[in-house]
Amino acid sequence: MREYQDRTVQEVAACTCDRWGRRMTPVDDQWEWYEKMSLDWRGGFGSVFGDGARVSLDLCQQCVRDMLGPWLRVDPPSAPDCSIQALKGVVPQPDAPVSVDQMDPWDFHERE
Ligand SMILES: [Zn+2]
Repeated sequence: MREYQDRTVQEVAACTCDRWGRRMTPVDDQWEWYEKMSLDWRGGFGSVFGDGARVSLDLCQQCVRDMLGPWLRVDPPSAPDCSIQALKGVVPQPDAPVSVDQMDPWDFHERE
C-alpha cells in the first residue's frame, strides 16, 4: 500500500530574452515560447568564464538567429515520404502496403 503527500513543484512560467528583454509565456506568446533557447551550464577547469562558474542565457528565436545565424546549421524539414523510404529496408516487401506492426524492426526479425 502506498501513501502519498502533497508537494509543491515549480515550473518555468515566463522567460525574458536576455538581449532584447522580450517576455515570453506559454499562454500569451505560445509560438515564441516553444522556440526560445535557454542555455545553462557550469564551466569546468580552464573555462573562459572561470573554473566552476555557472553560465546561463535565455534568448528569443529572433536573437538566436541574429546573434548566431552565421554559425547555425539549419536543415529544412524532411519531406514526408523520407521516413517511409528509410523503412523500405526493414519491411519484407518494400513496395507492398504494410501495417504499423510490420514496420517494427524487432518484430520483423522474429518472423524471418
Ligand atoms: Zn530576443
